[in-house]
Amino acid sequence: MTDITADVVLRRDRKKRLEQGHPWVFRTEIDRIEGDPAPGALVRIRSHTGHVLGVGYYNPRSQITVRVLSYGELERADAAFFAERFRRCLDYRRRFLPEVRSCRLVYGEADFLPGLIVDRFGDVLVVQLLSLGMDVRRDEIVAALVDVFCPRGIYERSDAPVRELEGLPLRKGPLWGDCPRFVEIEENGLRLLVDIAEGQKTGYFFDQRENRTLLRPIVAGADVLDCFAYTGAFTLSACKYGARRVVCLDVSEQAIELARENVRLNGFTDRVEFVVANAFDFLRARVREFRAAQAGVPSSGGRRPQELQWDVVVLDPPAFAKSRESVDSALRGYKDIHLNALKLVRDGGYLVTSSCSFHVRPDMFLDMALSAAVDARKLLRTVEFRGAGKDHPRILGVEEGDYLKFAIFEVRGR
Ligand code: SAH
Repeated sequence: MTDITADVVLRRDRKKRLEQGHPWVFRTEIDRIEGDPAPGALVRIRSHTGHVLGVGYYNPRSQITVRVLSYGELERADAAFFAERFRRCLDYRRRFLPEVRSCRLVYGEADFLPGLIVDRFGDVLVVQLLSLGMDVRRDEIVAALVDVFCPRGIYERSDAPVRELEGLPLRKGPLWGDCPRFVEIEENGLRLLVDIAEGQKTGYFFDQRENRTLLRPIVAGADVLDCFAYTGAFTLSACKYGARRVVCLDVSEQAIELARENVRLNGFTDRVEFVVANAFDFLRARVREFRAAQAGVPSSGGRRPQELQWDVVVLDPPAFAKSRESVDSALRGYKDIHLNALKLVRDGGYLVTSSCSFHVRPDMFLDMALSAAVDARKLLRTVEFRGAGKDHPRILGVEEGDYLKFAIFEVRGR
């Protein structure tokens, strides 16, 4: 007995994506379907010569009509199948992040479970079911999560807009067990509260874990500006590694409230100032004040030009480009904040910057930074240029999962 209900035969002129480990079959690549698969059902994928390429789940409503679950035979995607995959996810994290408990446990395609995200916050799991094939298997997934990870609770955050492309409604709420709204986690020796119900995405951004530790050599005794701070993760790292003063800024009042709580939890309250503001406006206004002070106009509080700058500025904005069409306007947005941030870094200081827009590819991001540096009359030395942490594995040939760009630049006047 098998759950496979149909064969999907691909066109001769398709791109050999599956052979590269890329687990998607687009609608335009399908020649014909032999059988009548239900939405979400397992289908066998065949090349035009009849060769079996794998087994995946089917969604006629999605452009990505089949997502591969196995490159060999697979009888069924039941709880035992998920449990076996989850154990492999756990083995990977234990090997590469032996000290870490709270992290991304399942990263969709890159963990061979397309459309499924699982983050662990202490003993609570937060799950995103992002595709129909995963949505119809939620009971099997929950059973396997309980079996492998023994959580206290499982909370669903399938309120991600990508679900609409799969013809699915947005949904969130407890799935299993006991799910408190706030869960405390530990990261790099810091304590953080995560709002799993109302926070952004799953509640916290694990992808910058390793990158946050890279502040260590640059923040001792420094004045730091953390823009787009969310719940203050970079602010906390800066404090831990010896920053003198940190301005922790975000446009969300709710985020700053939790950042304040996190700073207090770690005993850094004396060193941190919180600002609820739009970072674009804040940076622009500060540059204006800096210019005026340079020209001899007294600034607020009578501060000298240097005192209006920072040793380290951190930029970690949300994805400005949600689609390929919005890349140009996104790059203008990135350039705006980079230009102003660079003007506000003291000579010999550092710009710490990121982009999580997949559509802004690494070369575009670096070109944007260079163009901002030229306009700001600065020279940048690249101290770091990297991506997401080890709990966000990457499959060579699968670009989509490789969205995060993170850089540290030393900034000098020119
Ligand atoms: N640095 C954070 C993650 C940032 S997520 C961390 O390490 O966890 C992006 C943040 O940018 C969100 O908290 C969002 O509220 C904030 N944001 C979005 N637009 C903004 C703007 N124009 N000005 C300031 N903050 C903004």
